[in-house]
Amino acid sequence: MTRDPSAAPDGRRMRRRGGIRLAATTGLAVLAALAVVSPAQAFNHEGPHWATSQLTIDTSSVPSGGFHDALTDAAAEYTALTHVSVGTEDAIGSPWTAQVIDAGDDGYEGYSHWRYDGDHHTTSADMHLNTAYLDDSLPEDELKVVWEHESGHVLGIAHVTGIDHVMYPFASQAYDDGVTGLTDDEVAGIDSLY
Ligand SMILES: [Zn+2]
Repeated sequence: MTRDPSAAPDGRRMRRRGGIRLAATTGLAVLAALAVVSPAQAFNHEGPHWATSQLTIDTSSVPSGGFHDALTDAAAEYTALTHVSVGTEDAIGSPWTAQVIDAGDDGYEGYSHWRYDGDHHTTSADMHLNTAYLDDSLPEDELKVVWEHESGHVLGIAHVTGIDHVMYPFASQAYDDGVTGLTDDEVAGIDSLY
């Protein structure tokens, strides 16, 4: 069995900068569906996760510069702080790919898709940042937090309500609120899966 969560309008994982009303409504709909956060653990699971904890992101489509550097930082932070090892490679072949595209003013600062098998093990994934809202000159930590957010979805963790988290639905707002990297709750969420 395979399923692409992006097929459902509210299954598209995203954040945006600014305040288009339609996008905010979509974000809230996603939040309402997923926000079951116990006081003890501020993380949620998407459902699927990879069968292995040794992963590599194909970064060959990400241009060198700020976006690329931030993605390398994000992968290194997952490796340093969680049970997963996330490498990056500028070569085609990994089932986890990253891209930077101009998706236009569609309300999405970034989004990710993933597919999984009958055992709910992720088999492939792609994540994208949208240059309509993000650019190479933004602080490296801001781009890193956005990549960490999308990577979190790909690894299997979902949105949470608190703005002081990478997995807050609007990651740039979390960055603006002071989040500069993975928090203990993202680490706990990942480590509960791997
Ligand atoms: Zn998201």
